[in-house]
Amino acid sequence: MKFLDEFRNPQIACQLLQEIAATVTKDWVIMEICGGQTHSILRNGIDQLLPPHISLVHGPGCPVCVTPLEMIDQAIAIASRPDVIFTSFGDMLRVPGSEKDLLQVKSEGFDVRTVYSPLDALELARENREKEVVFFAVGFETTAPGNAMAVRQAARKKISNFSILVSHVTVPPAMEALLSSPENRVQGYLAAGHVCAIMGWWEYEPIAEKFRIPIVPTGFEPVDILEGILLIIQMLEAGEYGVKNQYNRTVNREGNESAQRVIREIFQKTDRNWRGIGTIPASGFCLRSEYAQFDAARRFSVDHIQTRESPNCISGLVLQGLKKPTECPVFGKECTPAQPLGATMVSSEGACAAYYQHQHIKVTTE
Ligand code: SF4
Repeated sequence: MKFLDEFRNPQIACQLLQEIAATVTKDWVIMEICGGQTHSILRNGIDQLLPPHISLVHGPGCPVCVTPLEMIDQAIAIASRPDVIFTSFGDMLRVPGSEKDLLQVKSEGFDVRTVYSPLDALELARENREKEVVFFAVGFETTAPGNAMAVRQAARKKISNFSILVSHVTVPPAMEALLSSPENRVQGYLAAGHVCAIMGWWEYEPIAEKFRIPIVPTGFEPVDILEGILLIIQMLEAGEYGVKNQYNRTVNREGNESAQRVIREIFQKTDRNWRGIGTIPASGFCLRSEYAQFDAARRFSVDHIQTRESPNCISGLVLQGLKKPTECPVFGKECTPAQPLGATMVSSEGACAAYYQHQHIKVTTE
């Protein structure tokens, strides 16, 4: 299949590995931002095949993982009302809140449903006018346009029993926050290709300039990731910084301007609390005041709920690239995908789940 097979081609992957090995002379730490890239790296054994000079650390780009615990508890409080149909993408249903998860709320008889689009939730609201229909709007810039469209449609069609519980975060402020930390180890970023497909890469240029690092928008197949790493290593070894695009079959500098327009129309920037990391200024979206009537946190008065994280979970350090999942004392013991203690184990994009699923794979180039 065009645009897929050639990016999974073992011969091309081997050539890229040889080129990386021939280029690297010093120790470098590279962070892949996106949980999808983390899984691809682990699933294909890329971390084992790279020269020992290169260390990959895993970033905060898994939306389920960085959604704060209090937001899960707010979702559970809303979903536990008899007048509500609570809708969400499936992966949020198993994320543990402080006492239970949304699947347990469903098993208690409340109306919690998986949908594949916020527009499906809007349609449910149109069909069930006697109920309040709430969509859990979680994610990065990739899901924001669809959620913004649903709110715009609800406003135009006067569907007043629809609202969204917003927990949107954005990538560039998190990249900057990690680079500004005194503990930072990251010297180059593989940026998430799908986020750049929406937002372009123009927002990354000032970050690359300010911190003098290479940033490479990168795809998700093994050849994509190896090409991205090679571009970063070439720049690091040459003492260069800036943005170079690996994912040029999908991404351009400006991104999808229509999608950016609808995001700006419905949302505005706000400070967001990132699970395990803390509050990052202007790192998320909330509804503009003109659309405040569609804000589920206000409608159901749950925005006061605050929750403390489990002291046993080090997922915040994992998401900042400071620890590997296997350094967590409860990894694979008390904490497994069947009984997750933290969001990085429950999410299909989480780094802990990636290590749990793929750590047994041993890979060679022979
Ligand atoms: S293994 Fe579990 S407890 Fe440990 S960091 Fe990962 S999610 Fe948290």
